Amino acid sequence: MSIIAWEKGLCYHAKMNMLEYMPVSSRDTRIARILKLEQERQSTTFNLIASENYCSKDILDAQGSILTDKYAEGYPGKRYYGGCENVDAVETLAINRARELFHAEHANVQPHSGAQANMAVYAALLDPGDSALGMSLSHGGHLTHGSKVSFSGKWYRFIPYGVDPKTELIDYDAVENLAMKYRPKLIVAGASAYPRIIDFQRFRYIANRVGAKLLVDMAHIVGIIAAGLHPSPVPYAHVVTSTMQKTLRGPRGGFILSNGDLARTIDSAVFPGIQGGPFMHIIAAKAICFFEAMQPDFIDYQRRVLKNASVLASEFQSHGLRIVSGGTDNHMVLVDLSPLGMSGRDAEEALASAGIFVNRNAIPFDPKPPRVASGIRVGTPALTTRGFGANETKVVADLIIKVISHLGEEKVVKQVRAEVKQMCHDFPIPRTV
Ligand SMILES: *Cc1c(COP(=O)(O)O)cnc(C)c1O
Repeated sequence: MSIIAWEKGLCYHAKMNMLEYMPVSSRDTRIARILKLEQERQSTTFNLIASENYCSKDILDAQGSILTDKYAEGYPGKRYYGGCENVDAVETLAINRARELFHAEHANVQPHSGAQANMAVYAALLDPGDSALGMSLSHGGHLTHGSKVSFSGKWYRFIPYGVDPKTELIDYDAVENLAMKYRPKLIVAGASAYPRIIDFQRFRYIANRVGAKLLVDMAHIVGIIAAGLHPSPVPYAHVVTSTMQKTLRGPRGGFILSNGDLARTIDSAVFPGIQGGPFMHIIAAKAICFFEAMQPDFIDYQRRVLKNASVLASEFQSHGLRIVSGGTDNHMVLVDLSPLGMSGRDAEEALASAGIFVNRNAIPFDPKPPRVASGIRVGTPALTTRGFGANETKVVADLIIKVISHLGEEKVVKQVRAEVKQMCHDFPIPRTV
């Protein structure tokens, strides 16, 4: 209540039911105020950032729980601290649920993030200077797949692969040729901006040909895989890494799956290799997240995520926009704005002023620098969590088109902003489920 009391000058709060969820009642009024503003931003705007979502209240609560105070270096039953019986039970549950959900022999749930998960796997499987193949950042790969600005590109010799210029699909023949030429120790499959199904079986075939290990980083599509709506990498990859907070709708964090024979190597690469004490409050939230992902309504949610993405793609196309690769098989759509003479940055900024959040994104063979970019990446996980179905998603597409086809028209922005607010009011973020 203190938040409302000291902010009573801003009368709209209580009235507009903005207090969906606000765990902080703090003496630090400056942070409390910023959190309030962020809550208001999240409540009243469209989130189409493909890597974001809204986790459940249970998951939020676990992250704010007393487990934050417990040190537990090591693994269940093998800790370097006393008093670990309860956190042992928590981590064991998280591990077993991850294994069950993805049919994996081994799981490590300690990585603090997706980047940490990848760092641990490289530490486990590579020596500094070893070579590896990874998808080029400019074709949709992740920074940690060998970008020069990341530890991955500084410590290892990554050779980038990409998509075919015509189809904009991963050029598997080119991947195979690069593998034959460079004989990498590791091949990394997975992406942050690739809207199509990835052929993990083909990647494993290529890895086998050159005696490389295969790492699949499923950070973006993990929720779709958990629901059985994208082929699983687990039967094909030696190791699988992932985030929790994207399509899986969990807390911030990462995890690693592998066969039993790599279990010890992976575990010791995470701790003591690259991390200290595990975040037990986050691991509790991960356990809850895996539990939620096992429920039938999660499959239904992922179906709607996919349906909404395909609605976005076809709606954009029917208005003459060019969609990279001609469509989508997952939760995201990449729109090429260059035919409109507009950059991704222009579109991102205009949409943000109307309360619609997307991110600028390079398209394959983009002539513009990444900070400008020719495209935008538009994802459906968050709005689908909000309850948007096909009809609402059609309206979302139309509002996006309205803004970018009237760039710089203040009246249009105002109109769209009002519609966005109304739809957000009608579909509040369901923190109570
Ligand atoms: C998001 C992402 C990561 C990094 O996850 P963080 O939790 O932000 O560190 C790694 N790999 C891929 C493919 C991603 O999309």
